[in-house]
Amino acid sequence: MANKYFAWSFDDGLQQDVRIVSILRKYGMGATFHLNSGLFGDRTYEGRIGNLGMKEVPADTFHTRRHFRLREEEAVQLYDGFEIASHTRTHANLKNCGAEKARSEILDDVQALSRIFRQRVVGFAYPYGASADYCKPILQEAGIRYGRTVHMDPSFRFPKDPYETPMTSWHIRKNALALTERFVQEKAEEEDLFFLMFAHGYEFDFGTRESNWAKFETICQIVSAAKDVQCVSIRDAFERHEKSL
Ligand SMILES: [Zn+2]
Repeated sequence: MANKYFAWSFDDGLQQDVRIVSILRKYGMGATFHLNSGLFGDRTYEGRIGNLGMKEVPADTFHTRRHFRLREEEAVQLYDGFEIASHTRTHANLKNCGAEKARSEILDDVQALSRIFRQRVVGFAYPYGASADYCKPILQEAGIRYGRTVHMDPSFRFPKDPYETPMTSWHIRKNALALTERFVQEKAEEEDLFFLMFAHGYEFDFGTRESNWAKFETICQIVSAAKDVQCVSIRDAFERHEKSL
C-alpha cells in the first residue's frame, strides 16, 4: 500500500496568515509558507482583478484587500511548527533579473530564513511563477530540493522534476472542492499520491463564491477527516515519499 500526502502552500507571509494558521492548527493540517526575508513588515494595498489575482493600487481604490506582510517577530511566533520556504529576498522576477541577481535573491533569502526561523530551508516558490535556465543550479547550490511553480497538474502524482513542482489545485478554482473529494476517495495502491493546494491569504478575504474562509475550512475538514491522508508540509511529503522509494 502506498501513501497519500496533502500539503497547503501559502505565499508572501501576510497578516491573513494569522487566521489561516489558527484554522490549520484546529484541523491538524500541515503547510508550507513561502516567505521573502527582505519584505517583513511591508504594507502595500493590492487591487482585485476579478476573481483571479491582484495588482498594486492606491489604498483608496474600490475593491482593495489588505496585502500587509507580517513583521519578522510576528512571523517567527506564528509559523512555529510549519515549514518555512524561500520565495526570494524581495519577490524578484527571476525570468528578467539575470543570473547574478537571481543568485543573491535566492542564496541570501535561504540563509536569512534559515537563521531567523532556525530550520533547514529546502523549499522554494518562484515569484510570479517566473523562472529561467539559470535558476535550477542556483537553487541546488542553495540546498533547495524543490521549486513550486504556478503550473497546474491535477494528476495526484509527484513531479518528475522537483524543481518544476506544479500545484494540484488553487483553492479559488471552481473544481478545487470536487478535486479534493476525488483525492480523498482515490486509493493509493502502487504509487504514492500527492495533493498540493495553493493559496494567498488575502484571497479568502474576497468573500466571493469560490474564494472565502468557509471554503478553506471545508477543504481542511474533508482532508483531515480522511484516515489515509497525511497532512504535511511540501518538504515532508517529498522526504517521506523519497524514503519509501
Ligand atoms: Zn508571491
